Amino acid sequence: MADEFELIQTFFTTHGNREDVLLGVGDDAAILQPPPGRQLVMTLDTLISGVHFPEQTSPSDIAYKSIAVNLSDLAAVGARPEWLMLSLSLPDNNTEWLQAFSQSFMQTCERYGVQLIGGDTTRGELSVSVQATGSVEAGRAMRRDAARPGDAIVVTGPLGDAALALALLQRGEEAPASLLQRLNRPAPQVEFGQRAAEVCNCAIDISDGLLADLQHITDASECGAEIDLSAIPLSSAYRQCYQNNISVSNLTKALTGGDDYELCLCTSFEQLQRLTQIARSCGANCFTIGKITAESGIRCINENGQLVDIPVSGYKHF
Ligand code: ADP
Ligand code: MG
Repeated sequence: MADEFELIQTFFTTHGNREDVLLGVGDDAAILQPPPGRQLVMTLDTLISGVHFPEQTSPSDIAYKSIAVNLSDLAAVGARPEWLMLSLSLPDNNTEWLQAFSQSFMQTCERYGVQLIGGDTTRGELSVSVQATGSVEAGRAMRRDAARPGDAIVVTGPLGDAALALALLQRGEEAPASLLQRLNRPAPQVEFGQRAAEVCNCAIDISDGLLADLQHITDASECGAEIDLSAIPLSSAYRQCYQNNISVSNLTKALTGGDDYELCLCTSFEQLQRLTQIARSCGANCFTIGKITAESGIRCINENGQLVDIPVSGYKHF
């Protein structure tokens, strides 16, 4: 492989052909036609080797996840994903690695109907940044500051699987395939996020752990929350790893682990049934795990109705 330009030409000249991409990869900047009557929604996430994925992660999983985590942010706002930009920092120009990475990247773009429209390529430690732009019907976006006391708190899927898989890998143990899948191939709630925005004003995606992310909602909305620990959805693989003994300490990964990429939504109890129907119609799940309170703070209640003290300690870089 000769140089950076050849690399871009070989691996990242996109095969997408959206009509709203007037100019894509190859010029100084991309030119896009914004969807009429909709607001643009933008997000960016960086994945760094050894921080956001284990060093042994395959290039195809890294490519997939770099897109999935961004689509999850768009889903949390209720946006439809449209275009991506990719900033790649690579230690070398390993053709085999790039081949697998770009193939998976393009496949994932196709799967979600988004188009790669540009990016940047540099040499350095392995790091992948994806910037995603989506769109939402004007005024319909779900926001962190829109929860109200009395709202039901809902999550879309089992929590803690990815964090448990990572912990097992870090201990040198084997992680069950279904947990590894949840770590390496998280499924962003793209369709449900968009449909949910029809009836729901408040959501966040769970990337840093349920309690830490819910706290972003309660802080922004100036309220609190009460969580029913026995209602936290867990996968059967998660339960089996703890011999089906789901004590409070065995809930830590589900409550504070992170990397779940499920949505946490807050909606009035009147709208809850509608939200559940919408979830069902797009193959998603809705588990009610608690409610928003006027009193600040997040209280976790066990199956005996007792308050349990769980420190909110989501992943923090600094
Ligand atoms: P410039 O020097 O004008 O910033 P670059 O050499 O960085 O341009 O990039 C040339 C073109 O290739 C631009 O259109 C840019 O968006 C695109 N590009 C660079 N790296 C990537 C990448 N990893 N994926 C997709 N497009 C890329
Ligand atoms: Mg550049």
